Amino acid sequence: MPVPSRPRVVVVGAGFGGLWAARALSRSPADVLLIDRNNYHTFLPLLYQVAAAELEPGDIVYPVRSILRGLPNADFALAEVRRINFSERLVYLDGRAVAYDYLIIAAGSASHFFGVAGGPEFAFPLKTLDQGIRLRNHILRCFEGAAHNPNPAERRRLLTFVIVGGGPTGVEFAGALAELLRRPLTKDYPRINFDEARVILLEAAESLLPGFPDRLRAYAQDHLRRMGVEVRVRATVDQITPQATHLKDGSLTPTETVVWTAGVRGVPQAETWGLPTGRGGRVATLPTLQVAGHPEVYVVGDLAYLEEAGRPLPMVAPVAIQQGRFAAENIARQIEGREPLPFRYRDRGTMVTIGRNAAVAQLGGRSFTGFPAWLIWLSVHLFNLIGFRNRLIVLINWAWDYFLYERAVRLILPGEVNPASK
Ligand SMILES: Cc1cc2nc3c(=O)[nH]c(=O)nc-3n(C[C@H](O)[C@H](O)[C@H](O)COP(=O)(O)OP(=O)(O)OC[C@H]3O[C@@H](n4cnc5c(N)ncnc54)[C@H](O)[C@@H]3O)c2cc1C
Repeated sequence: MPVPSRPRVVVVGAGFGGLWAARALSRSPADVLLIDRNNYHTFLPLLYQVAAAELEPGDIVYPVRSILRGLPNADFALAEVRRINFSERLVYLDGRAVAYDYLIIAAGSASHFFGVAGGPEFAFPLKTLDQGIRLRNHILRCFEGAAHNPNPAERRRLLTFVIVGGGPTGVEFAGALAELLRRPLTKDYPRINFDEARVILLEAAESLLPGFPDRLRAYAQDHLRRMGVEVRVRATVDQITPQATHLKDGSLTPTETVVWTAGVRGVPQAETWGLPTGRGGRVATLPTLQVAGHPEVYVVGDLAYLEEAGRPLPMVAPVAIQQGRFAAENIARQIEGREPLPFRYRDRGTMVTIGRNAAVAQLGGRSFTGFPAWLIWLSVHLFNLIGFRNRLIVLINWAWDYFLYERAVRLILPGEVNPASK
């Protein structure tokens, strides 16, 4: 008798959602093909530390093939997904098509500029490894430029760093940048007057960290101000040019560095692939994480839009991880001829670090600030980083930074053609 062939599951994206789905599928009677445009998984929660010259790019990424080594039913393809034909069940890569029986789309999110003029052209987004490297190179070049510039106005413009968005990424990056300026760079650039250097954090809402408890929001704001960060709330950016940020109230800040952390949306490709996208470019899924009308197609992670208790699930790593695993389990159920189950998010808490010895954390109904929250943040991030070597190197870098007030990595990395462009 002919042996029935095993179903093939194609997973698009080796981020948190896709990688955890592929791992969970190792227990299923299916062949898995994981596709990503990069041959590595990026631990995005530490990306801001690459941009702030605290960690090397290699410390926060891990090769996908190494992760898949122990999974005999899984393979990897380094490719860009260009198109998906849902009726013929084909995923089109550069120059070839791959057939699937089940498809998990975990392509993640992109920066959302909310129509702010000049945003896409002149702001620095912080969503991918290359964006993190580019931002770090640019910041270090600003200091090199300021070190030999006799014009005070130009110097101040080079040394003014504006961060747009007072959510977790904006707060973490503002803290890390203030620390970079305050200690390691003052040693490197003895001729620069650091009174001319500014880190400005702009938030359109009433306070930083919208959605966090009042006590934690107040702590974060207070602590950043004590670190020298100029925190401006109810500040809405209207326009960004190569040399300034304009606010809705008519004020203007001369700067060559605007870091955009104010908004995210589902990857724009989801629309061109023909997925039903709604608010924020995310795909509204059924509670089972399937796409309506396509029981063999799942969307997970940042790209998926699903509400619980009337509120959309946040675009964070634990949601993506849990959804990736859950989609894999539902596919295993379908293969066995059983009905898929609805997804339920188990929220274990959220945390944001602000700088040395300072963080805020909300865990199981309890909130923490200061040193205890910072220790929790440190342990959770170290534990979740993939790969023992990466953990060790990150730990060494953090210890170096903590005890010596030094950043181990302050290289302007090669690879950019036009240093003036973002
Ligand atoms: C700077 C930053 C800090 C963050 N900090 C935290 C934090 O502290 N805690 C937290 O919980 N969350 C944090 N997040 C959010 C968290 O990283 C995301 O929620 C999570 O990564 C979503 O997982 P995902 O699998 O949906 O997408 P991603 O992890 O973004 O993975 C998407 C993958 O799809 C690939 N891909 C996309 N399109 C294609 C295509 N067309 N072809 C091939 N491959 C493609 C990408 O290369 C990528 O590898 C942070 C995010 C950022 C950007």
